[in-house]
Amino acid sequence: MTTSCLYHTQGIRGYQYQKTERTGLTEIYHLHSTTHSLRCPCCRSEATTLVKTGKSRDIRGLSIGFKRTIMRVYTRRILCRDCGHSPQEPIDFCAAAYVSYSKWVVKFVLALRRAMSIREVAQFTGLNWESVKNIEKKYLSKKYKTVRLGDVEYLGIDEVYLGKKLGYITVVRDLDTGAVLYIGNGKGGDSLKPFRSRIRRKAKRIKAVAIDMANSYSAWVAEVLPDADIVYDHFHVIKLMNERMDGLRKSTMNKLADEQKKELKGKRFLILRNQENLSPEAAQELKKLRFEFKDLGTASMMKEYLRNIYRMADSCELARTAFMLWCEKAETSGIACLKQMAKTIRKRIEGLVSFWKHHRITSASQEGFNNKIGWLTRQAYGYKDEKYLHLKIYDLPNLQTRKYL
Ligand SMILES: [Zn+2]
Repeated sequence: MTTSCLYHTQGIRGYQYQKTERTGLTEIYHLHSTTHSLRCPCCRSEATTLVKTGKSRDIRGLSIGFKRTIMRVYTRRILCRDCGHSPQEPIDFCAAAYVSYSKWVVKFVLALRRAMSIREVAQFTGLNWESVKNIEKKYLSKKYKTVRLGDVEYLGIDEVYLGKKLGYITVVRDLDTGAVLYIGNGKGGDSLKPFRSRIRRKAKRIKAVAIDMANSYSAWVAEVLPDADIVYDHFHVIKLMNERMDGLRKSTMNKLADEQKKELKGKRFLILRNQENLSPEAAQELKKLRFEFKDLGTASMMKEYLRNIYRMADSCELARTAFMLWCEKAETSGIACLKQMAKTIRKRIEGLVSFWKHHRITSASQEGFNNKIGWLTRQAYGYKDEKYLHLKIYDLPNLQTRKYL
């Protein structure tokens, strides 16, 4: 190892290479700082003397093949004659004063994280899990310190369930770019409090806000963004319909004898899944279920009908007529969950039709996005660090979904 080599392979400048110590799979390079004078970091005075401490600090460098490398740096103190302080001489190739790996190790870890899980990166580099996580957390904190609202026109607000421990979060996204603009803890208008003043400055620009039909954010939008239209988009309508149908499935199941219960149990996905995504066998099974459980059959048919409105209607007027027809049909079906859905649709018809007014703004990506969050939390049940998880959610739109994250 030469001084020049140190610079080109490890990004280390200003240090003199002295010797190498070898222990098993580790190379230890002994380094001395070549700096002659330094300003005092406390008072900026130039009246300082550098004094050897007789101690050293070990900083992890990039591995060379199978060999791990450690830079053993002999430390010095900066004695200041003006303020009397004697701080340690900073090691500028080290990533931070309180860590023991170099800046290039950080770069390398971030590059590996694009394709590997935290655990894999830790195994590969020999760093511990926590260090790898912290390297990424620091990088993401800086990247998402201030999220610009930019030229946002279409907002999507949604609550996402992260599991028992972390509960709900509210995520605000720019529906055009897919960027995450804000993450709040909890759900409903309260979770958006810190976001309020920021978005208000952009209020004139915002054309529409897509929200769920549960009414949790409509009051907030009406108050904070009075000029924006509320849109109940395709994704949220079908989501609500699925919830209602699942309720019907459960209540149907409860009324059945044990033998029949078995038949319906575990059929949740068959009933809720979109028809075109079923295999021929599954479609056949669904047909049978629809025949045997009439109400459930009707409801599942009505869901497909609802989806068809989104596929076929090409104007606000057509959509409005189709929704009204749907409601009439649902009301005469005598099935409680359909009647309930019809009531919701009638009440929220303006928001439903707004979907067409705003050129079918889509949170089509929203479904995918929510799935990605779900997958993120499942991947890493080790995400006990809430801040880190939030940062990972901010970063989700930039990531290709791979096997690991
Ligand atoms: Zn000083």
